[in-house]
Amino acid sequence: MLTYQSVSDEACAFHLLKQDAIFSRIPVERQSALVCQAIEIGKRCSRKFRGANLTRFLDEDGVKIIYQPSSPITGLHAQIQYDEKIKKIELYSPVIEQMMQISQTIVEKLTYDQVSQLFIAHEFYHWVEYSSHSLTQNKCDSVEVTYLGFIHTDRKVRMTSEIAAFQFAKEQLQLTIHPLIYDQLMKVTGQAGTSSDYWPDQWLKEYSEILLRKDDTKHG
Ligand SMILES: [Zn+2]
Repeated sequence: MLTYQSVSDEACAFHLLKQDAIFSRIPVERQSALVCQAIEIGKRCSRKFRGANLTRFLDEDGVKIIYQPSSPITGLHAQIQYDEKIKKIELYSPVIEQMMQISQTIVEKLTYDQVSQLFIAHEFYHWVEYSSHSLTQNKCDSVEVTYLGFIHTDRKVRMTSEIAAFQFAKEQLQLTIHPLIYDQLMKVTGQAGTSSDYWPDQWLKEYSEILLRKDDTKHG
């Protein structure tokens, strides 16, 4: 059986890319390049902050980390608010607890503190983007979108930010499993009729299919 470790970062990142609002407008032969770009940006940022105390940076900038005792209404695991008035990262204890429990069922077991650090690292990446005014989407290739058949406009791929944030968090925590796997396990656990063995294969298959498409265009 496929292990969660064998689901590559690229396959997980592609799963995120597919959730982008303009995914259907991204030419298939450019999808893997975008995935790799965003992963590399996340890794590069992580090299910059390797071994650093992330919360200290946040603290120095006045970003408060708040643990909420209830689950979020939004369905998000954590979130950052960063503007002139409010600088805060919210974490949700029940979500941390749930992810910790889920991780006990697989090879890489995480503690409550590790899950918290994972969420903080993810939001920290967004803090880097916001505080330095350098959004990931602006560093990645944009996509030309045509409306009404004749209006051409360049659109940014916003999901590249998520891909980079996930990658950053994975590198910071030195996880062997991509954090999106934990998200997905939380989603599918308890859902009737979901085969937990099936989706990792599906993710890998989907990514390998676009790689083939990329090769097709390369070889004409
Ligand atoms: Zn995020």
